[in-house]
Amino acid sequence: MVKKRVFAVTLGCKLNYAETSSILDSFVQNGWEITSGDDTPDLIIIHTCAVTGQAGQKSRQQVRKMIKRYPQSRVAVIGCYAQLYPESIEKIGGVDVILGSKEKFLLQKYIATGKETVYKNVSPPGSIAEAAPAHSLVYGKKWGRTRAFLKVQDGCNYGCAYCTIPLARGKSRSVPLETVIEGAGKLAEAGYREIVLTGVNIADYRSGAAGMVELLQEIETVDVARIRISSIEPDVLSDRLIDTVASSSKIMPHFHLPLQSGSDDILAAMERRYTAAGYRERFLNAAAAVPDCAIGADVMVGYPGETEADFQATFKLLETLPAAYLHVFACSMRPGTSLAAQVSSGIRQKVPSGTTRGRSRRLLGLAEKKQGEFTRQYIGKNLDVLFEERRDGKGGKTVVSGYSRNYLRVQVMPGDLRKPFDLIGTEKKVHIVKMTGDLILEGRFVT
Ligand code: SF4
Repeated sequence: MVKKRVFAVTLGCKLNYAETSSILDSFVQNGWEITSGDDTPDLIIIHTCAVTGQAGQKSRQQVRKMIKRYPQSRVAVIGCYAQLYPESIEKIGGVDVILGSKEKFLLQKYIATGKETVYKNVSPPGSIAEAAPAHSLVYGKKWGRTRAFLKVQDGCNYGCAYCTIPLARGKSRSVPLETVIEGAGKLAEAGYREIVLTGVNIADYRSGAAGMVELLQEIETVDVARIRISSIEPDVLSDRLIDTVASSSKIMPHFHLPLQSGSDDILAAMERRYTAAGYRERFLNAAAAVPDCAIGADVMVGYPGETEADFQATFKLLETLPAAYLHVFACSMRPGTSLAAQVSSGIRQKVPSGTTRGRSRRLLGLAEKKQGEFTRQYIGKNLDVLFEERRDGKGGKTVVSGYSRNYLRVQVMPGDLRKPFDLIGTEKKVHIVKMTGDLILEGRFVT
């Protein structure tokens, strides 16, 4: 019997990628095969994102692009944008199934109905109860069988003024600990070397008596080389959590710590749960306790009402912190958020786009400086690198690259390679010789 083919396009966060893999899993278990889109698939899944206006636009573009490229295929649009704006997807035309954050995991069932009319099922966010499947197979071929995302938590109870995620994904809930460990075990058996724990607000993890620390202690027992924590909220980066990472040989010395603003007035307006001083204290505590720790931060500019003094407070705070990298975002007004209500009622004034662009440029300049400073300090030192990619470099020489434990990109000097393929998925000690213009470290194997 000819197997039906399914092709998936995923936008947005690590969580979306982990979930896409689980959804594809359910199709494989029902006799479908995953295709890369080179041939005409029977079904295309577009896993959307709605975190910013731009992400929403990209989601709509992907839907149109896929319908145009594969006119014979059935099209399913799922995820956060489908949850929040199902009508705008229906208006595109040519979409067969639209499923929200809860129903998306049952896509295989809905497709099996073979309904010809547009099937839309989007539950209100409040009713999105269970966290759904945990384990993920690798997403995409880019990382071979090296790194995989594992979903441990979903949703969020915080309600930051600018954020649409709680509207799209519902309240915080966690994947049961035994299911997480089972998922991690399956990934380890499948040969993955690094597992990235992902969720929306993962430090809010709770399974019975087990919190985030207990989850980490339990997952350390799984036979995998590396465990990486994705983003973590500053107010829940406790000393106990920091110590658990510091004393572990498997949990990577890397925290992604969203700051958003260094001004207490703006942090209060955003309804974030820390002050600039509190953030600084958590940051420096982690940097001091965890050797070679890489700490990256998200920072937002152009938040309505942000003055030059607020921006200066953000800039000065980040200038003083040994950040490994910064992700700079311009504030995106999301419908349905309390910020959107404050702006439309005139309580908060929008920042002129030119001002926002100027502030982004200044912060991007600082981001490059910070990343350069953090990366350069490893020249002359040895780093353990998990190799995940091979490509043809200058003069056709093979370059193999990967990430260090503290998330630095490292490539092996061309010409210093015996069997490049065998390196993928292996962790090797590399002596760092220099840093390229793209802030990538280059080195030689330590034999
Ligand atoms: S912590 Fe805030 S920004 Fe993060 S998902 Fe929750 S509401 Fe959104």
